[in-house]
Amino acid sequence: MTHAVKHHPGIPLLEQYVEGTLEADVALAVAAHIDLCPHCQQLCQDLAVEQGTQLQLMEPMDTNTSEPDWQAMMDSIIAESPDTAELPKQHKGPVTVHWKDKTFQVPRALARLVEQQTKWTQLGSIANNKLPAGDKRHVSLLYIDKDTAIPQHTHLGIEITLVLSGAIVDEQGQYGVGDILINTPDDTHTPRTLPDQDCLCLSVLSAPLKFNKGFTRLLNPLQHFFY
Ligand SMILES: [Zn+2]
Repeated sequence: MTHAVKHHPGIPLLEQYVEGTLEADVALAVAAHIDLCPHCQQLCQDLAVEQGTQLQLMEPMDTNTSEPDWQAMMDSIIAESPDTAELPKQHKGPVTVHWKDKTFQVPRALARLVEQQTKWTQLGSIANNKLPAGDKRHVSLLYIDKDTAIPQHTHLGIEITLVLSGAIVDEQGQYGVGDILINTPDDTHTPRTLPDQDCLCLSVLSAPLKFNKGFTRLLNPLQHFFY
């Protein structure tokens, strides 16, 4: 699986991530993206160097010794976020998520959360597993069967979606494994899966989705389903 990641969190988010100032639940999505994205791994290393050694900004960094620093940086970032203060020993082996007879491998950054997954709730061909999160945001694993559309919606807050398996297509383009979609209250979209491929993603919401179309009697349960 060598999908080239095309949609990244963007420099401001990565900067906050490296600084350790990002909210824990957003940092989690960014960390999981970084696990899947060599491009952002390099960027974060560069940002860490930049932030750590402002005075030597013009000096080229020694990439040969960057590997241990990266891990140390990750550890310190994770340790700084209050929700994950007492981090257990490094998770070994693949981290997997199961839905019915399917098994998905997900980034290590999600290991601790995945261990605490709750029961899946299913609504048609979509299933949601709400994960323990900080008080400000709602984090869940979202399984969407192939050829399925999530009804058109806008966002009352920020919606961050990280594709973990399969792909999502919306009005803006197609998102594959590792791609991160960040939607704000200005964005309206109708995400759907490909005709022949189901999808697992991580969803971080700061406020409920607002569905624009469909049967009124379905909108309320739909909102509760995602948030
Ligand atoms: Zn990236």
